[in-house]
Amino acid sequence: MSSMNFPELVSLGSVAFDAHSSFMTGPALAPSRILECLYSDSSNYWTERGFNPLEDKCFSNDGPLSYSDYLGIQKVAQQRIQQGKRLLTLGGDHSISYPLMRAHREFYPDFAILQIDAHGDLYDNFMGNPHSHACPFARIMEEGLCDRLVQVGIRTLNPHQRQQADKFGVEQIEMRHFSKKIRDLHFNRPLYISLDMDGIDPAFAPGVSHHEPGGLNVREVLDLLHSLDVPIVGADIVEYNPHRDPVGITAALAAKLTKEILELMLENS
Ligand code: MN
Ligand code: MN
Repeated sequence: MSSMNFPELVSLGSVAFDAHSSFMTGPALAPSRILECLYSDSSNYWTERGFNPLEDKCFSNDGPLSYSDYLGIQKVAQQRIQQGKRLLTLGGDHSISYPLMRAHREFYPDFAILQIDAHGDLYDNFMGNPHSHACPFARIMEEGLCDRLVQVGIRTLNPHQRQQADKFGVEQIEMRHFSKKIRDLHFNRPLYISLDMDGIDPAFAPGVSHHEPGGLNVREVLDLLHSLDVPIVGADIVEYNPHRDPVGITAALAAKLTKEILELMLENS
């Protein structure tokens, strides 16, 4: 375990950006919908394990990191981290994890990423765009922005993406092996969580642009989160698309996962 001290404060931020989506836009609208659910009277503020992150003295909701500027996200994230805060970022397409990781890397010399996703997001470029939401983890690995990348829930690999995973040494728990392999997953260094909502089965999370059947159920995601016992340096919840979520069921799930991840950030040490 790293001996470095982690900032006590945890900051909720949002990113209204979806210009690097490949199929349809919508994740720019995610933050307001998730926050509406988070603070709605339809539920309470407590996590399943009995913690209230929203009223914790170390928690603050600091609003948007950026409305439109992709690389500007990095600058605002850096500023907040410099202020002694750890970030949970809501909304955006998955391309935003790259500028977020650049910001985190300046401050955290040793951390792993847990990516929950139907997709590897490892394309060298997608339709000519190296910053597509299909590419962020190729950029992250090329620049050495983390010390270990573990992808869970993957079920869309093609030969190019398998090659990329090999090249970068990415560990993958493909969905077809999930029940056998998840038991052996352990982290021994601080962790960043990147949660793409399409990692969850579309039966539970229809509000995403890319419906990929055969994914994690909600309980499997919660069990995985509850099993994490290392410090969390930051997290993002991306790819929620309100256009595909007519009754708000996916927003409610994203809000619940926000609370559960905030608990990990505030309570794990
Ligand atoms: Mn993704
Ligand atoms: Mn995905």
